[in-house]
Amino acid sequence: MRDTSLLQLALGLTPPWSVSRADFDAEAHRLDIRIDFAPGSRFACPVCGAADCPAHDTQRKTWRHLNFFQHQAYLTARVPRIRCEACGIKTVGVPWARPGSGFTLLFEALVMTMLSAMPVAAVARIVGEHDTRLWRVLHHYVDQARARIDASDATRIAIDETAARRGHDYITLFADIDQARVLFATEGRDAGTVADFADDLAMHGGDPAAVEEVCIDMSPAFIKGVAETLPNAAVTFDKFHAVKIVNDAVDRVRRGEQKHQNVLKGTRYLWLRNPANLSDRQRATLESLPTRHLKTARAYQIRLAFQDLYQQPSAEAAAGYLKKWYFWATHSRLEPVIGAARTVKRHWDGILRWFDSKIANGLIEGINSLVQAAKSKARGYRSIRNLKAMVYLLAGKLDLELPA
Ligand SMILES: [Zn+2]
Repeated sequence: MRDTSLLQLALGLTPPWSVSRADFDAEAHRLDIRIDFAPGSRFACPVCGAADCPAHDTQRKTWRHLNFFQHQAYLTARVPRIRCEACGIKTVGVPWARPGSGFTLLFEALVMTMLSAMPVAAVARIVGEHDTRLWRVLHHYVDQARARIDASDATRIAIDETAARRGHDYITLFADIDQARVLFATEGRDAGTVADFADDLAMHGGDPAAVEEVCIDMSPAFIKGVAETLPNAAVTFDKFHAVKIVNDAVDRVRRGEQKHQNVLKGTRYLWLRNPANLSDRQRATLESLPTRHLKTARAYQIRLAFQDLYQQPSAEAAAGYLKKWYFWATHSRLEPVIGAARTVKRHWDGILRWFDSKIANGLIEGINSLVQAAKSKARGYRSIRNLKAMVYLLAGKLDLELPA
């Protein structure tokens, strides 16, 4: 068997395509495979499908292929342009690559598999290609796969923002809670992001009016966006965000008090944690403090009591409990705690909605960790568009339909 025949079999080429020669350069670690078509071959028109179009001329193209052992391999072919009676002069497609790509389908499949498992920069280093070329491949497959997604059964949506690029930019994520997948990611965190999601949902077979439940933080932008574009959605305020508001109040009380209470120095994290999560040493420190006299300790008790809201057995019990808590918090004479209580009051129904919906952004904790992974994999990602594509790749449960 001649080496060209072996390569032809390995490449799976079928007529009219065949390997015409192969050049191996050991010093350059490079294998060049030349592919050609039989003279007089006829091709189908790539536009209308008309068969038996004669070649008009050819253009030489080269594609990076899977490595040949440790050596880079390239395919080069004269690609015919045909003359179609109806369509004019058109370049025919080749079976080993998609139009416009400098990589073969198999090389792209390898790249995509690597991109879902390791940082882009690492893939670029391993395959010896500039990362911008890899991002282009990623966008192609992610865009194609996203165009195919079916969001027709999306009824419970978690909305959350995440900082991109050291907190200068934000992207907002819309996740289908039941499918545990990111449906939509978009730049910004204003009310318009929700409208963009509603449009995108409709484009994928979903219905904004069919969304029954959303979970959001208390940002006025999300509240407004949901009211305007998801008309039938009941809002649940994410319980982790709600607890955080009260927790932040405790921290502000501590900061104010620490100025004249030396015993509070270095205790910040004691008050931010739950008792069960303290180390033995932290617990000992907490017990040694004159808590009876500390405003911070009072604020801390109010925060723990707020968390206990979520242990209430029913929506009715919770409503009564929250009323009592509100009375206690607003009579605490602790300004930050009173402020937090007023915020709770303004979001009353959405906080209590949890007892019916039982949804929280924590439900998509798995997604959050994938988004964090996307950020680190996309490090140096150059653009928000790249970051979004990486989020879809890792957290979108896409079917990439990679060539095999
Ligand atoms: Zn045609």
